[in-house]
Amino acid sequence: MTSQPCHDSLHNIQPHPFWQDTVAPAPTASSLAGSLECDLAIVGGGFTGLWTALLARRRSPTLNITIIEARRCGGEASGRNGGFCAPSISHGVSNALKRWPQEAEKLIRLGRQNLDELAADLQHFGMQVEFEREGKLNVASQPWQIDGLRSMQRNYARFGIECEWFEGSELARKLDSPLYGAGVFEPNYALLNPAKMAAELRRVCLAQGIRLFEQSPVLELMEGKNLLRLRTADGDMSAGHVALATNIAPPLLGHLASSVIPVYDYTLVSEPLSDAQLTAIGWTGRYGIADSGNQFHYLRKTADNRILWGGFDAIYHFGGRRDEALTQRPESFNRLAEQFRQAFPSLREVRFSHAWGGIIDTSARTTMFTGCAMQGRVAYALGFTGQGVSASRFAALNMLDLLAGERTERTELLMTSKAPFRFPPEPLRFAGVKMAQRSLAREDRDGHRDLLLKTFDAFGIGFDS
Ligand SMILES: Cc1cc2nc3c(=O)[nH]c(=O)nc-3n(C[C@H](O)[C@H](O)[C@H](O)COP(=O)(O)OP(=O)(O)OC[C@H]3O[C@@H](n4cnc5c(N)ncnc54)[C@H](O)[C@@H]3O)c2cc1C
Repeated sequence: MTSQPCHDSLHNIQPHPFWQDTVAPAPTASSLAGSLECDLAIVGGGFTGLWTALLARRRSPTLNITIIEARRCGGEASGRNGGFCAPSISHGVSNALKRWPQEAEKLIRLGRQNLDELAADLQHFGMQVEFEREGKLNVASQPWQIDGLRSMQRNYARFGIECEWFEGSELARKLDSPLYGAGVFEPNYALLNPAKMAAELRRVCLAQGIRLFEQSPVLELMEGKNLLRLRTADGDMSAGHVALATNIAPPLLGHLASSVIPVYDYTLVSEPLSDAQLTAIGWTGRYGIADSGNQFHYLRKTADNRILWGGFDAIYHFGGRRDEALTQRPESFNRLAEQFRQAFPSLREVRFSHAWGGIIDTSARTTMFTGCAMQGRVAYALGFTGQGVSASRFAALNMLDLLAGERTERTELLMTSKAPFRFPPEPLRFAGVKMAQRSLAREDRDGHRDLLLKTFDAFGIGFDS
């Protein structure tokens, strides 16, 4: 992997997303060359761009739709994530209540509706993505985290969301670990295989007559009198409308550059576990699990009973550096491997087969936002902050509403329509992120929320992954 000493469970690791190995590669689409025209051009072929294309087709069977992707569809965050598919568009119920108390009920309802509709779309289009709606167990290790879970349980009760409290031997039958003292199980939560999700969305888009160009980074977006123009190295596309679904790549609209920062998140996947190994840790169901620190882990099973174990480190590089090489970070992999052993001592012989990282598009509000430019002919959606698997579908609908000039319940949300707090320029940005991370780590150790975090709270600023 690199020269850094590696944890004994990480020898012979494959340095790429496990999910890639579960999908038969489709031939790459041709790149954009020459001058072409369409009604709707979508820049970016991750979940957001692919959903935008598919849902635009549903609204208009005759619209001429084109996706332009810089590399391969699903090659970035959409093919590298944990596959937790939340019934939420607001990074959870507590976040909705904290930041938008006046519209929390609406956000919660729309999030649950979005997951229902996503499940229905999978069925309607015959997309095979290992979708499992088996729930999620939220576990806590420290007394103040257990208090946090109690508050989560109260919030769920307030909005009629089904959940169940576990502790002691009851918890051990759901997850047996010396670290965790309590858990809240929410049955309405799904998991999927993200690489299959991207591949299936791509397949269905092509089957629906949507044109796709890959290996075609858009270099510039220009406003013409009648049409917008997207320029690539070898061609250009004129379009009536443009949806920007470029996530954390340097944005084509310069004013968005300080609204999100790239934060690297890392993941390990183990070799397949036997039933006996899984029974030894009480994890016999197919539900996903997450712990409750500011620096949290997420874990789930793959279809062949490997454990995916990710999270904790959230690395921001000075100047917002983005580089493929940064998706491999032995220090983070070693830490994750060691923390896995602490969580599950009986699995100390388990080896990991895959290790990778990806970029989280972190907004200071921890939720996505949308907006328009160029007289309403361009829409954008970004800032998912680690919860975009389901929210990307909602963002797609929101962009289509905006491009149609329609005022809908989606477009009127404060969460989506109000721009988030902008990150300050460097070197202040780097210093601010480091200070916030130190405070968050301290809070994880002693439960004390310091003045810096309280000040951020007062301004509605958050840092998460
Ligand atoms: C390690 C990791 C774990 C995560 N885990 C979860 C999880 O469990 N649950 C969850 O809900 N979310 C999770 N997320 C977040 C989730 O993956 C993202 O929010 C979601 O995939 C965003 O989709 P997207 O289409 O907006 O972005 P992307 O998948 O990043 O797609 C954007 C696309 O735009 C293309 N592009 C960029 N610029 C240009 C350009 N100029 N021209 C042409 N194309 C361009 C890129 O090549 C890319 O393919 C995780 C993210 C990471 C990195």
